[in-house]
Amino acid sequence: PNSLPRPDQRRVLTVANQKGGVGKTTSAVNLAAALAVHGLKTLVIDLDPQGNASTALNVDHRSGTPSIYDVLLGDLPLGEAMAVSEQSPNLFCVPATIDLAGAEIELVEVPSRESRLKEALTGEVVDQLGVDYVFIDCPPSLGLLTVNAMVAAREVLIPIQCEYYALEGLGQLLSNIELVQKHLNPGLSVSTILLTMYDGRTKLADQVTAEVRDHFGDVVLKTVIPRNVKVSEAPSYGQTVLAYDPGSRGAMSYVDAARELAERGSSNGSRRGTL
Ligand code: ADP
Ligand code: MG
Repeated sequence: PNSLPRPDQRRVLTVANQKGGVGKTTSAVNLAAALAVHGLKTLVIDLDPQGNASTALNVDHRSGTPSIYDVLLGDLPLGEAMAVSEQSPNLFCVPATIDLAGAEIELVEVPSRESRLKEALTGEVVDQLGVDYVFIDCPPSLGLLTVNAMVAAREVLIPIQCEYYALEGLGQLLSNIELVQKHLNPGLSVSTILLTMYDGRTKLADQVTAEVRDHFGDVVLKTVIPRNVKVSEAPSYGQTVLAYDPGSRGAMSYVDAARELAERGSSNGSRRGTL
């Protein structure tokens, strides 16, 4: 596959939306896989106790496995919890185990509780590996785990499902991002919105797409991810859709979205004002 442009600096993207089921995990793992197969070193950090990203990348995440929990709460170096995926030697994952379910509460008590992930990411391993992209797959909440992700990143990628109520709750997400910008991470911006699970047969999907573009302008990727059964089947085989069925519409749309993401660079961070 042709390679994609390598970013000048490592790009760290938090994939966030406090709604569940909008395509956060699916987008994190498939964008990561698409970048990795095109030659870019990519790390997925699973920050959801459900461990869905770990499952999709077929990375062990049974309780007791060294995981992001140990990194955040046990000072384990990130590299010691990192696994290489079988899908590509360029694709790495720090898994989440169910232990992470208690982390929101346990974190309250620890020093610099909002910046544990940021500190872990600035360790040596990520530099030594030459990681180009980091995707942080957030849980469906705006608690301390998501705050850690927003403090560790420069970019927020918001997946929006093309359905009724798509924009509901987005105001709350954006005001949380503003709070993080103001108090913890002034460099943070919403760089990317990705429309997911588009069903071309419904008028509603087009209405939602138009509304989101109208509201958010160029931050929205031109590529829209269609609803495609291959995308939903892939995780049960421990695969991304790129490995499971590379010719499917789902796989090809994630490759297109990854290309767009890579070609834009992070320069559109300056478009933050449009939000
Ligand atoms: P989140 O991480 O936001 O909770 P997921 O990525 O887990 O959302 O997606 C929710 C469900 O929708 C999953 O079962 C997933 O397989 C399915 N899904 C996501 N994107 C697509 C798509 N483009 N086509 C079909 N199913 C999808
Ligand atoms: Mg998820």
